[in-house]
Amino acid sequence: TSVLELTGLVKTYGDTRALDGLSVSLPENQYISLLGPSGSGKTTLLRVIAGFEKLESGAIRFAGSQINATPPHRRGIGFVFQNFALFPHLTVQENIAFGLANREADALTDAREISDRVRSIIDLVGLSGLETRAVTQISGGQKQRVALARTLVTEPKMVLLDEPLGALDANLRSRMRHELREIRERCGVTFLHVTGSETEALAMGDTVLVLDRGRIAQKDKSDAVYSRPI
Ligand code: ADP
Ligand code: ADP
Repeated sequence: TSVLELTGLVKTYGDTRALDGLSVSLPENQYISLLGPSGSGKTTLLRVIAGFEKLESGAIRFAGSQINATPPHRRGIGFVFQNFALFPHLTVQENIAFGLANREADALTDAREISDRVRSIIDLVGLSGLETRAVTQISGGQKQRVALARTLVTEPKMVLLDEPLGALDANLRSRMRHELREIRERCGVTFLHVTGSETEALAMGDTVLVLDRGRIAQKDKSDAVYSRPI
């Protein structure tokens, strides 16, 4: 079954068709890589799915509902930014709790429930022992986990990751590939991971989508993509 169905998405910036009638359906409970060269529309597609950008035409069905008009914080879709976007003056656990306490519509106000959820997410992403550390005092890989935890604590059905390994050095990058896949398996939600790196896309994706000039050029299991030229 599919968690996300995109039909005929069109998004233009002036004369540029960033998304040019894109259609695809994404399987649930998988690690999905979205691969494409710079300018192919990867970031635009993520922003459209998240609800940060308006479409000219097309439909987005997510978890059984049409969500074209649903505001971003109501979609049940999390977003992890490349630079992590953490609050430098807050601790690890404060950064994670911030995602919960500040949702407009259904903000959690019960302090006990907030702390229980933050606790279980900290365990899930492997940040135990660092709860009260300032985020300026942790490593790049740990910042990555805080960013992910801040999204996961809101219990999204899907998480979008825009070049999540781009800010990490090469060593850490290959370790985080493995860890991101493990975290996804533990929480059981769909991850959609944007990358310009073929190696990364193939190493990480259960399914690999290849984007070319605003359309899906290929969709396959990663081993099948690997056996063909891209
Ligand atoms: P990618 O993430 O694959 O590099 P983008 O989605 O950022 O691709 O961009 C797709 C195309 O849309 C590019 O030609 C880019 O220059 C253009 N584009 C993206 N965002 C904007 C914008 N805000 N204003 C004008 N053009 C944009
Ligand atoms: P990436 O390749 O990682 O998408 P870009 O530098 O292409 O990075 O885009 C970074 C941000 O700038 C994105 O939010 C994108 O929408 C925006 N952007 C990209 N191209 C343009 C453009 N030609 N004019 C204005 N904004 C753009």
